[in-house]
Amino acid sequence: MAQFSQKIKRIGVFTSGGDAPGMNAAIRAVVRVGIAQNLEVYGIQNGYVGMIENKIHPLQLRDMANIIQRGGTILKTGRSSEFMKAEGRTKAAQNLKAAQIDALVCIGGDGSFRGAHALWEEHQIPVVGVPGTIDNDIYGSDKTIGFDTAVNTALEAIDRIRDTAASHDRLFIVEVMGRNSGFIASHVGLAGGAEEIFTPEGNTTVEKAIDRIKEAIGRGKTSSILITAEGQKPGRAYDLADAIRKKSGMDAKVCILGHQQRGGSPTAADRILASRMGAAAVDSLLKGYCDIMIGTEGERLVQVPLDLVTKNEKKSQLDLLSLASILAT
Ligand code: ADP
Repeated sequence: MAQFSQKIKRIGVFTSGGDAPGMNAAIRAVVRVGIAQNLEVYGIQNGYVGMIENKIHPLQLRDMANIIQRGGTILKTGRSSEFMKAEGRTKAAQNLKAAQIDALVCIGGDGSFRGAHALWEEHQIPVVGVPGTIDNDIYGSDKTIGFDTAVNTALEAIDRIRDTAASHDRLFIVEVMGRNSGFIASHVGLAGGAEEIFTPEGNTTVEKAIDRIKEAIGRGKTSSILITAEGQKPGRAYDLADAIRKKSGMDAKVCILGHQQRGGSPTAADRILASRMGAAAVDSLLKGYCDIMIGTEGERLVQVPLDLVTKNEKKSQLDLLSLASILAT
């Protein structure tokens, strides 16, 4: 864990990469805890894009009114190819220094943390990361901001689909987000009683799914729901439906939940997590710690070096898949 000794008076906060419900609660915590600790807090618009384009403005206590319950991010987010290059980061660092920003809180995913780590390494700008992503795929934190909300949004949709699936004796394939990780799929599948869950890490196959559905029909079950994480692009559920139709003659309806999983009012769990993490990020900077992410280990907050966070992969829990499989009989 890196440490710095200069006294900080002014900090910047930004959201970067994929947006997630609860990011606003984290911004609010950074601003209000910062001001309570006699810091000045500046907001940077559109992540690293705004850092390079000098979109840096002071934030006051009242700017944080009425945002804890809102999805998205009031600071907006962004992706910057310019920031991926050393010259882009130099420009960003010059803007931060001109605005007299002494340290930063970066709310985002692992790409954003790679950028934050580079700012510290190359320009000695202290940064603390706060994990905000619906995918929950950040090494070093059991939970990320937005995951609980996304799971609950998807679950609500699945409960509705089950009503119609049961009424018509139908097979449904529901596609949830999670291109590279099966956290949303496995949690939603277990909580929604899915018959089979397809994730990037799991080892189920179309043949296994067909066998399970047929067995279930044999036991008198008349409707089934399969959950799949999206593929490299949305639409994997259609490929699965085609394969099931070709191999078994069974007809499957497809429902792709898509971007609704990113939006909406954050759950209580996400608001609380974001508030605690935002506050802990400011606290860490005040104590002179940087180049770290605030994560959770169970209920406890922990500080994890950004280098570890970005160089390791978090594995989703395969035991949830086997439990879901036993329970959905
Ligand atoms: P997330 O933070 O949600 O993982 P991205 O991977 O899109 O989202 O990263 C957000 C932004 O972080 C990128 O657009 C880029 O500006 C910056 N970034 C990502 N990777 C790096 C890197 N290796 N070095 C510097 N900046 C990076």
